[in-house]
Amino acid sequence: MPTTEFVYVLNNMVLTDTAGRWLFSESFVAPDKIRAVYELSLEPEYPVQMLVVDSLSNGLQNDVLTLRQMLAGADDRIFQLLARASQLATWQHDHRFCPRCGTGLRPHEKDLAKQCDSCGLVQYPRLSPCVIMLVSDGDYCLLGHGHNFVPGVYSTLAGFIEVGETAEAAVAREVFEETGIRVKNVRYFSSQPWPFPHSLMLGFTAEYASGDICIQPEELADARWFHVDELPDLPTRFSISRFLINDFIRSRGRVPPAE
Ligand SMILES: [Zn+2]
Repeated sequence: MPTTEFVYVLNNMVLTDTAGRWLFSESFVAPDKIRAVYELSLEPEYPVQMLVVDSLSNGLQNDVLTLRQMLAGADDRIFQLLARASQLATWQHDHRFCPRCGTGLRPHEKDLAKQCDSCGLVQYPRLSPCVIMLVSDGDYCLLGHGHNFVPGVYSTLAGFIEVGETAEAAVAREVFEETGIRVKNVRYFSSQPWPFPHSLMLGFTAEYASGDICIQPEELADARWFHVDELPDLPTRFSISRFLINDFIRSRGRVPPAE
């Protein structure tokens, strides 16, 4: 019988102890302080429960590490678990009332969802699909610098998928809207849950088709073609943007830089 582990959540935050740990092998918060329990793990051999608490207690705190710092040191399983905990924490905190009739929601008996007892509406966790894409032209790739980026860092372009739009169409639209570049040969790469606050990043590669760079200033501060041997500072190593850029570097016979 696998041992269940526990993650504590207060409001939209994953809590840590004073040593920065956030995944615990035993539940040490009094049952009357626990407002809701959600099954967190997607792997039956590693059961984890997310316990939503009313207040800080027993040495738990919410200000030691930021989510990005916590994710930076995580392996694949821990990344998935922590990303899921964070997204569920945000959802349970931000979706407390029925959007149809305004009644307070309660946890669903079986599903990872919330139920309205007044009108019967069931609410599932919010998930926002985004596309993120590496556009290449021979040994060059197209990277952008956002207004809130660390100075010098360039990343792959990205954007939300519109209602009713395919992911492939979103890739072409976002690249054109942000940079004026038309692309072709859009190919799926891989995906990554991205808990800032509830995105699912769908990674793609695409090739340059036509156009000159003309940035949309509300979206980007800069966008440029970078040669594979003259890349700028890159995004954090645990992001799908970095996975896409590293794949581009390897595909051109080079070795990706260490972080
Ligand atoms: Zn309702």
